[in-house]
Amino acid sequence: MNTQKLTIVIPAYNEEEILVNSVHRLIDIEDQIAAKEAQGLQGIRADILIVDDGSKDRTWELVEQLHEDNPRVKGIRFSRNFGHQSALIAGLTEAVKTANMLVTIDADLQDDPEKISEMVDLYAAGDDIVYGVRNNRDSDSWFKRTTAQGYYRTLHLLGVELVPNHADFRLMSKRAVETLLKYHERNLFIRGVIPKLGFKTGEVDYKRTPRMAGESKYPLKKMIAFAWDGITSLTIAPIRLILILGAFACLLAVAMVIYAVVLKVLGMSIHGWSSLMVSLWFMGGVQLISLGVIGEYIGKLTTEVKDRPRYTIETILE
Ligand code: UDP
Ligand code: MG
Repeated sequence: MNTQKLTIVIPAYNEEEILVNSVHRLIDIEDQIAAKEAQGLQGIRADILIVDDGSKDRTWELVEQLHEDNPRVKGIRFSRNFGHQSALIAGLTEAVKTANMLVTIDADLQDDPEKISEMVDLYAAGDDIVYGVRNNRDSDSWFKRTTAQGYYRTLHLLGVELVPNHADFRLMSKRAVETLLKYHERNLFIRGVIPKLGFKTGEVDYKRTPRMAGESKYPLKKMIAFAWDGITSLTIAPIRLILILGAFACLLAVAMVIYAVVLKVLGMSIHGWSSLMVSLWFMGGVQLISLGVIGEYIGKLTTEVKDRPRYTIETILE
């Protein structure tokens, strides 16, 4: 008999208002999946792993309580806040030791957990990675929707292919997770790396609902940091752009010289002061931006070379 184990990994940062409800709902869903016996998968065992990303509220107390009430709920506690992506990696690293199917979902269950069952069906039918794909962005604010779309379009222009409207709600097989974990970079932008893994992939559509309680744990500052990490860890296109910009500026300068010579020959005077100032400032600007972008990549390089741990675990409940 082909017994399988499903683990749902939940990153949680200050989620006291919502965690208990979410976990109960996920346990019900897991029970239904286990009872259903997806084709070819019999006796599915399922558990839940919550990664407390250094919460400052009662999240960890709740995890301990949930674990006591039901040993199927497990927990990892970070020593401080390391961020959503690190929490996911820690959860997958721990869960892949025993699970064959790993699902990641946000603690607020904005991504429809009922769809996990369909993900398992697709896994049973041979998919290694099943993406949860939102069929609309109604639940986002105008600001988030527009900035997100602009951002993904920019990434696309820079040559990075992402699965549109997919965040971190997905199912992965054991071997897909093991491959993902071979990507050792510190600032791993998970959804940008998954499409590079290969393997057979599938999709399930869902409608994203608004948060039931609590606030978004992604304030603007974190969103910008996340977006910038995405660009600089997935592509070196900005450095190439600098090169192109530089070449373009040089050509422009050559053209200006020719223009000046022509004017001289024609005996027309050059009142060059303003054009001089403009080009001076423009070039100064281009150079500073270029240095900044290069500095950003060097900074990233330094962080990678230091090879520091991505997170520190304080406690594990297993
Ligand atoms: N999260 C985390 N660490 C952080 C920020 C967020 O583990 O530093 C978790 C959070 O608890 C949630 C998920 O990441 O489970 C997504 O966050 P949120 O729902 O606030 O983001 P949004 O849906 O607003 O994009
Ligand atoms: Mg959310």
